[in-house]
Amino acid sequence: MSDLALKYKAPRGTSDLVYPESEKVEGILRVAAAELELRGYRRISTPIIENTDLFRRSIGEATDIVAKEMYTFEDQGGESLTLRPEGTAPVVRAYLERSLHARGLPQKLYYLGPMFRRERPQAGRYRQFHQIGAEAIGSPDPFIDAEIISISEALFARLGLRGYELVVNSVGCRECRPSYVRMLSSFLEGVSQQLCDECRRRSRENPLRTFDCKKESCRQALESAPAIGEQLCPACREHFTATCGHLDRLGIRFRVDERMVRGLDYYTNTTFEFQFEGLGAQNTVSGGGRYDYLAEQLGGPATPGVGFSLGIERLLMAVDAQGLDPFPGLRLDVFVAGAPGADRGRVLDIMTAVRNAGISADSDFMERGLKAQMKQADRLDARLVLIVGKDELERGEVTFRDLDQSRQWQVSLSMMMSELRDFLEGVKRDG
Ligand code: ATP
Ligand code: MG
Repeated sequence: MSDLALKYKAPRGTSDLVYPESEKVEGILRVAAAELELRGYRRISTPIIENTDLFRRSIGEATDIVAKEMYTFEDQGGESLTLRPEGTAPVVRAYLERSLHARGLPQKLYYLGPMFRRERPQAGRYRQFHQIGAEAIGSPDPFIDAEIISISEALFARLGLRGYELVVNSVGCRECRPSYVRMLSSFLEGVSQQLCDECRRRSRENPLRTFDCKKESCRQALESAPAIGEQLCPACREHFTATCGHLDRLGIRFRVDERMVRGLDYYTNTTFEFQFEGLGAQNTVSGGGRYDYLAEQLGGPATPGVGFSLGIERLLMAVDAQGLDPFPGLRLDVFVAGAPGADRGRVLDIMTAVRNAGISADSDFMERGLKAQMKQADRLDARLVLIVGKDELERGEVTFRDLDQSRQWQVSLSMMMSELRDFLEGVKRDG
C-alpha cells in the first residue's frame, strides 16, 4: 500500500511494537522483573491517567515536563487529567492512598509501562515511551540507594551490555539546598548575558533547572557555576559518603559529578544516571534518586524514598548498538503440512494433538500447495515440518522434515509424539 492510500498513522512520536522486537522487549522485561524480584521488589500497576495536580505539585511547575510536555485534558466532567509523564509520583500517591506503610517498611515496589511526554521526537526520544522502574519507600538507609542503583547495573550485566558510566551526585536537603540555590542564583545573575531566554526565566523561578539546558552556550556559562557537592550539610555529606561506600562494597564503579541535577524537582540527596557511549544526546538509559519530601508534598506523613526508572527504548538502542541479541524472536516448533489428496481433517487433528502436548504448531490456512507450504514453514522459522500425505496416512506414518538440515524421514503415527519430543530436545541441546 502506498503512503498516499494510508489515511491513519500512529501519532507523531509513538510507534507500534511489532514482532520480533515485541518479543525482545518481553524478554528484557522478564529479566528485569527477575532482577527486581531477586531483591524483594513487588509489582504495582497504577492508572495511566492521574489528576493533573499530582504531577504539577511533585515534578515542579518550572520543569520542562510540567511547563510544556504534559498531555493534559479536561474530561466530560470538567476534571483535569494528565497522561502520566513518569511513574514515581503515582506510586507514592498509591502508597499513601492504600496505606501501604501498614504492610511494613520499606515498601519495595516496581512498575513497567508507557509514559507520555510531548517532546520533540528524535532517536531515543518519543512521546509515548516505556519505562521499568522501582521505588523503595520508607527507609532513609543509604544501602537502599545503592541497592536501587545496583538494579540497572545487574540488568545491563545480564544483557551483556558494556560501555556505560554511572554518574552519581547528592543534591542536598532542606537544610543545605537553599543556601546553595542562593549562591547559584547570584552566580547566574553574573552570567545572565550568556544564558538563553528560557534559562533566564529558569534562573528566576528555579535556578537548579538551568543545569537541564542542553544548549551549548548555557552549558559553557554554567561550567564555572558553584557545585552543590561542596555545599552539602554534614548529614547529607555523611549520607552521600555512605551511599558511595555501599556502591564500592557492591563492586559498582561510578564517577561523582557535583553538577549533575536531574530534571525533576522532587529529588533530595542521591541522584544518579547511567550514561552510554554511542547513543548521542539521548545517552541516559536509566536514572533516579532519593525523594525524601515527596510523600509530604502529596499530603502524607514525612516518608523517605528512593527510586529509578529505565527507558526500554533506549535500552534496546544500546543492545542493538552493541550488536547483542539476547532474546531472538519466537520460533515455531512444528509446521504441519498437508500433501495433495491428504484428508485436511486429519492434518488439523495432528496439529491439534501437537499443540495439546504443549508444542507450538501451525498449519496452512490459505489452501497452498505443498511447495508453498514449505515456504510458509520456512517464513515461520519452524524447527520441524510434519508432512501428512495420503499414502503415508494409510500406512500409519507421517514424514518428518528438518528444514535446517534438509533431511527427512518416516515416523509411525504411534511414535510421532515421542519422536517429536526427542527431536525438539535435541535441537535445543545443540542450540
Ligand atoms: P533526558 O535527560 O534524556 O530527557 P530525563 O532526565 O528526562 O532524560 P527521566 O525523567 O529521569 O529522564 O526518565 C528516566 C528514563 O526514561 C530516561 O533515562 C530515559 O531512558 C527514559 N526517557 C525519558 N524521556 C524519554 C523520552 N521522551 N523518550 C524515550 N525515553 C525517555
Ligand atoms: Mg527529559
